[in-house]
Amino acid sequence: MMGPSHALSGATVWLAGSWALHQFADYEQSPLAIAVGTAVCAGAALFPDLDLSGKVTRNQGGATVAKTFGVVSLFIAEVVEKISLGVYHATKLSKDPHRNNGHRTLTHTIPFTVLVGWGTTALCAAYGKWAVIGILFFMIGLALRGLFDEWAKRAGWVIVTLVSAAAAYFTFLNLPGDRGYPMIGLAVGVGCFVHILGDMITRSGVPILWPIPIKRRMWRMISLPDKIAIKTGSKVETVVLRGVFTVIALLAAAGLVAPAVLRRFDIEI
Ligand SMILES: [Zn+2]
Repeated sequence: MMGPSHALSGATVWLAGSWALHQFADYEQSPLAIAVGTAVCAGAALFPDLDLSGKVTRNQGGATVAKTFGVVSLFIAEVVEKISLGVYHATKLSKDPHRNNGHRTLTHTIPFTVLVGWGTTALCAAYGKWAVIGILFFMIGLALRGLFDEWAKRAGWVIVTLVSAAAAYFTFLNLPGDRGYPMIGLAVGVGCFVHILGDMITRSGVPILWPIPIKRRMWRMISLPDKIAIKTGSKVETVVLRGVFTVIALLAAAGLVAPAVLRRFDIEI
């Protein structure tokens, strides 16, 4: 899947999940908390593709996410890709093929998703609002790159960085200071997981079973059968899938906001 679809799927899942929590578990979040969770989940739904470096430096497309913060994110992508490739080689079994690039390996696994979600939660618990502002800045940047890709391309990384910083700062000013923000870690974990599922419905697949060895392979790529797998960038992805995501996201957002609006006008429901 392409960047915008990944980001949109992250936002949709978070909004739909928040609506379900509100509806069925009576778990209510403030509008700011919902907005923050949605942005973080959308950004995190692009995070695993931060392992795509080489292609971007040669300007051959690839994940635009590595361009989010200019050379800084390109450098991070380079490091993440090399670490992923290192882990691939260190854990590969005899039937796993040789690889020259770490894309779609470590960052596309369940252990990575859990680790990143847990790491984010630990950071927020230890440093509170200061951790939150850093994570928000990073994730909002990725989300902007994904959700508004045409705008981000035209605006360039400096503007994207400035807008992310402003949004993170605004959130920081308005968040209560005395809590650990466990929802942010959850949003990061859920976002990464949604990304993996998104890649799984395309032909190339993801090593979702890692590190379970099956038939002398540790890095088996799991995907939908070729017949029903979605072609990256096809109409099914850019029109049908994105259309469905958008409708669900809007319905969930309306469902979350409507009760508060009705209450404001004293309408009994
Ligand atoms: Zn991916």
